[in-house]
Amino acid sequence: MVEERLSIQSKIVATVGPACDSQDQLAALMDAGVDVFRLNLTHGDPEHHLSVARTIRALEQAKARAVGILADLPGPKIRLGDLVQSPIYCQVGDRFAIVEGREPQDVHEVTVSWPGLTELLNVGDPVLLADGTVGWRVVERRPGRAECVVEKPGEIRSRSGVHVPGVSRGLQALTDEDLHLLDHLKAIDVDFVGLSYAATPEDVLNLRQALSDRHIPARIVTKIERKAAVDNLQGLLEVSDALMIARGDLGVEVDIARMAVLQKEILRAARDHRLPVITATQMLESMRTSPLPTRAEATDVANAVLDGTDALMLSGETAVGKHPVLVVQTMRRIVAEAEALLRRDQALLSGVRPTGRARPIESLASAAASIGEALQASYLVVTTKTGYSAFVLAKERCFQPTLALTDDERTWRMLTLCWGARPVLVPEFRSSYDTIRYVEQYAERYAQPLRTGDRIVVLGSTHWTSTRHDMVVVHEVH
Ligand code: PEP
Repeated sequence: MVEERLSIQSKIVATVGPACDSQDQLAALMDAGVDVFRLNLTHGDPEHHLSVARTIRALEQAKARAVGILADLPGPKIRLGDLVQSPIYCQVGDRFAIVEGREPQDVHEVTVSWPGLTELLNVGDPVLLADGTVGWRVVERRPGRAECVVEKPGEIRSRSGVHVPGVSRGLQALTDEDLHLLDHLKAIDVDFVGLSYAATPEDVLNLRQALSDRHIPARIVTKIERKAAVDNLQGLLEVSDALMIARGDLGVEVDIARMAVLQKEILRAARDHRLPVITATQMLESMRTSPLPTRAEATDVANAVLDGTDALMLSGETAVGKHPVLVVQTMRRIVAEAEALLRRDQALLSGVRPTGRARPIESLASAAASIGEALQASYLVVTTKTGYSAFVLAKERCFQPTLALTDDERTWRMLTLCWGARPVLVPEFRSSYDTIRYVEQYAERYAQPLRTGDRIVVLGSTHWTSTRHDMVVVHEVH
């Protein structure tokens, strides 16, 4: 393993798709700095996802670097079926028909994943596609067929989302299709499962039960993309392992004018709860085709970091875009600038640190971070069984080089979502002395040998095997 420069602290999630699912492209994306690959189960078949996951695991071994896999369930979202050709560009004034009971015959016919939708549509209803980027309006309805005219132009693809304001596909987040896909996930060996369209804590608990029934030890990333999820945010924070601000659907479900405020509110709530958050969708959207992002996109990425996001997600940019590697490199450059500002601007930094230190681990993490900072420690180290204490420490936004040491391979991979921490898989330690010895050897091997007077700060437990953290150790090299 070669020590890479820890040049950014925020984590990057990249969606895998036809533009980047070859071994070479996945390797290049890892080298460019992807921490977690997202398999969007809405697209592709389980066999294909399995083969991509195997390639990712092989690369992980070859590069001796943890990489997470997030399997994102489709949920109850209404989607287009397979188009006659994909993508199709919808021009203003073009007519398209939603048909039921048969396959589309030409490019102007589409099917949807919800039988009976055409019965619920009325002339004059808007139909929004592809996260609301394309707009149709129903102009004529016949049994099994709704004729629409394009009002807002744009590109649609097979399995693009369809949203009809006021028409909901029921409240059950975990669908039969999701459960069926979960049956395949054991073979895929994923680290995170994305729960689409969650509305209530019960939705998350249902997924947890379904995972446990199938012996899938993955963590749950609850996607905040419905108004109900925003309303039930506190309850969702209690039961989730991480959140995703899924701005694509959220921007259709709530007034787009509220998006920035909602993003800040969700990030703040998750920070005080010490839960990691992925900010997702349209971050560098124009780079699907262009080699440069827009000014607004570059600013959006930086602001997400300054608002306290732990990870940033790329969707179509890497899955179907023209420049998957360049887009990751560009995101990294923007993130590095934003983090440099955060690091030097105390007011901004205090603004993204959590408030409320009710539990011992929260006080200990805060103390470890401030001691690490005050002593300019060479390493801030957290030993962790489940990853939890590393996630709590991450919220303190300490910029000293941070190692999250674990002897659990699952936790090692899960830490790929942990802001600022480099996940390191270690043998079982018995004492803090073992930990310090390991860090000294690590520095010698992968960075530079520690010198007399250098400091290591460890957040850990007096019993390595305990998940309960109860100590902060300061070691000075002599
Ligand atoms: C989103 O809506 O922003 C999102 C990430 O979910 P999906 O890609 O499943 O639409």
